[in-house]
Amino acid sequence: MVLQRVKLSEADRRHIIAQSGGCCNKCKTRLFLENAFGERARLGDDAHIVAASEDGPRGESDLGAQGRASLKNVMLLCKNCHAEVDQQPKQFPVVSLLQMREKHYDWVESFLGDVVLKRPPFHYLSYINVPRADMYAVANSISLPQPQLGAAKSIRDLGIVSGRLMAGYVSVLNHDDLYANEFSGNTALTDLQVGEYWYSSEATFRSKKILDEYSAAVPQAWKKQECIIYRKFNDWRLVCMIDPRWMTTSTASVTLSSGIFKTIALVHIASVDLTSKVAMASPIFLGAPDKGF
Ligand SMILES: [Zn+2]
Repeated sequence: MVLQRVKLSEADRRHIIAQSGGCCNKCKTRLFLENAFGERARLGDDAHIVAASEDGPRGESDLGAQGRASLKNVMLLCKNCHAEVDQQPKQFPVVSLLQMREKHYDWVESFLGDVVLKRPPFHYLSYINVPRADMYAVANSISLPQPQLGAAKSIRDLGIVSGRLMAGYVSVLNHDDLYANEFSGNTALTDLQVGEYWYSSEATFRSKKILDEYSAAVPQAWKKQECIIYRKFNDWRLVCMIDPRWMTTSTASVTLSSGIFKTIALVHIASVDLTSKVAMASPIFLGAPDKGF
């Protein structure tokens, strides 16, 4: 029997990337990079567990062409690990690859945290980091709107659609469980780990040099920790890099650059520096509670 090779669907592909936290399932290297120029690189492969063809690595199987191209049979690997497992199929049989993938998915999930109880309902979102929100949604099996940004460079460029988009996010967020660790006034810097999701209920943030346009100046300002909002804790600071593309409205832009304001925040921890006592984070959502402020 000759198998007709089937392509993995785009939906399955995104699912695999999100469940993998964007990391190689074997060596945990980050596979999706973006540099200061906004250039993106994808360093990994959708690797078949049972090969797409019967004479490929681990290819002897009853699995049909469709099954071989399903997310059940594919795992995200870096180029090195992909070559290693495909050239040494006796050392890496199907069962050990399935175990490796399951362990990795559990590892990613351990960063999601618990259900955040008693959170204020969102009324308005001032910031939606669309790619991050997408990853968060798939990892949590919630269905957030998936905006077609198309040629638009920012959410505001979507014009009237951006209002509908925001309303869509607000209703899903208020309806679904949110998984994250929750900040309290006593949260210590050592409580945080890179890769974790953290939630801050309505709290005071300060802002520095929030730019209105995305340009080369933005990554520069991130490096100098200028284009940021931050929250002070006892002896450390949570610093959130603001990417102007994800500000939802011009009102949001005014709020975020106002110097001091209150917001609800869901963030993804990017780095923890115990020496300078700073945690850097990417905000996924920033928003105002129902009563406004
Ligand atoms: Zn690897």
